[in-house]
Amino acid sequence: MCGIFGVFNNNNASKLTYLGLHALQHRGQEAVGIAVSNRYEINVKKTEGLVMQALKEQDLNNLKGDIAIGHVRYSTSGKANPQNIQPFLSHFYKGSFAIAHNGNIVNVNELKEELEKEGAIFHTTSDTEVFVHLIAKAKDTEEFEINLHQNDREFLPLLFSAMKKVKGAYSLLILRESQLIAVRDPYGFRPLVLGKNKQGTLFLASESCALDMVEAEYLRDIKPGEVLVIDGEGLRSYFPLGFVDKAHKCIFEYVYFARPDSIIFQDYVYEIRKEMGRQLAKEKPIDADVVVPVLDSGFLAAKGYSEKSGIPLEFGLIRNHYIGRSFIQPLQEIRDLSVKLKLNPVRQVVEGKRIILIDDSLVRGTTAKKIVGMLKRAGAKEIHFLISSPPVISSCVYGIDTPTKEELIASTKSIEEIRNYIGVDTLYYLSLDGMVKSALNKKNKGFCVACFTGDYPVL
Ligand code: AMP
Repeated sequence: MCGIFGVFNNNNASKLTYLGLHALQHRGQEAVGIAVSNRYEINVKKTEGLVMQALKEQDLNNLKGDIAIGHVRYSTSGKANPQNIQPFLSHFYKGSFAIAHNGNIVNVNELKEELEKEGAIFHTTSDTEVFVHLIAKAKDTEEFEINLHQNDREFLPLLFSAMKKVKGAYSLLILRESQLIAVRDPYGFRPLVLGKNKQGTLFLASESCALDMVEAEYLRDIKPGEVLVIDGEGLRSYFPLGFVDKAHKCIFEYVYFARPDSIIFQDYVYEIRKEMGRQLAKEKPIDADVVVPVLDSGFLAAKGYSEKSGIPLEFGLIRNHYIGRSFIQPLQEIRDLSVKLKLNPVRQVVEGKRIILIDDSLVRGTTAKKIVGMLKRAGAKEIHFLISSPPVISSCVYGIDTPTKEELIASTKSIEEIRNYIGVDTLYYLSLDGMVKSALNKKNKGFCVACFTGDYPVL
């Protein structure tokens, strides 16, 4: 997972990008990069670490210009290589461009092999670099050269040709000397929104919470399959692969990944997450004393459950905010410890109580087992564990970092075995239908649910 942010037409472009990326920090904590154009050349600063710590004021002052893109990166062990930090800046016979990508290309190996046989030399192990080479080497571009604005005739056919070859998930921002380009794959797996502030500066962001950060208003989503070009002559939208309604938006963004104060896929994450909890209460009513959320991710589902069931919500677990996401630690030993570092039970709330414990998802089961142990030691009488999504049985190939299939507890164990392993009185997962129903509205259909079904829309 990654977060991307772009700014067009503001002399504080690098600082605004810094703020936008800070709001998207939950989408990637490993590294950050910003590329800025002053209309003649593009400069880039990339570094490991969190936005606020890794980038200094001087770095931002050095990045002069009024168009910018930025990226926060999330990867797992092995792939955390400084060369893979985005945006990637390249120079070729048609100028320079920087690219920032959220998603995952599924046919990367085939494409890489083809490109390497033709002489391409890759500098990173990131799938995003495939785009760079496909753009630079694009040949058969005639079919894309019709009906283009004159500013777009040089570069866009190359990009369209690359899009035709790439399969998988990509929300992209491309910075050229005088243009900002936003791209979303035809399935629309990953989110990407457009916003504007009062001064007319345009912004692109993975989630609308980053628009709030720069006091911009959410205008709309970039549509699946859309290429939006922004330059001095305005905004132009193209659908190079045809406008096919193939939308398969990642439902896990609603379940867990996106921030609850965001609008993505044209809807409010907060409402949907809470609806998943209400749905859980309809599907699995339980006689209990308190509803306890696993903070922070389980909070809204727990709130929805509590409202629907009338059972009071209590903070039976308190979170220490000075530790990052436990999931992200590449080593099991550190992951085990960090659950303890992150959450602590409140004895007064849980002692002698029948608890409905709610989290958004169960992946490896590491978090749940630890939490249940803690709650029992704090005197919980019964623990009924409800999950506001179905069992995760398959790894995501579209950009959410899920562990391998073998590590996913629900891919090898039955629900009863998982219940036993975690040590709870009840274990219930929200049904697939219930989850999808919670996320649907009139504007919002077509979700990717591959991690819950193993049914991949494109491979
Ligand atoms: P696990 O301990 O492996 O079962 O992880 C489950 C916990 O990790 C839940 O509290 C989720 O909110 C959270 N989680 C689920 N998916 C992810 C992900 N892709 N990255 C980080 N955390 C996640």
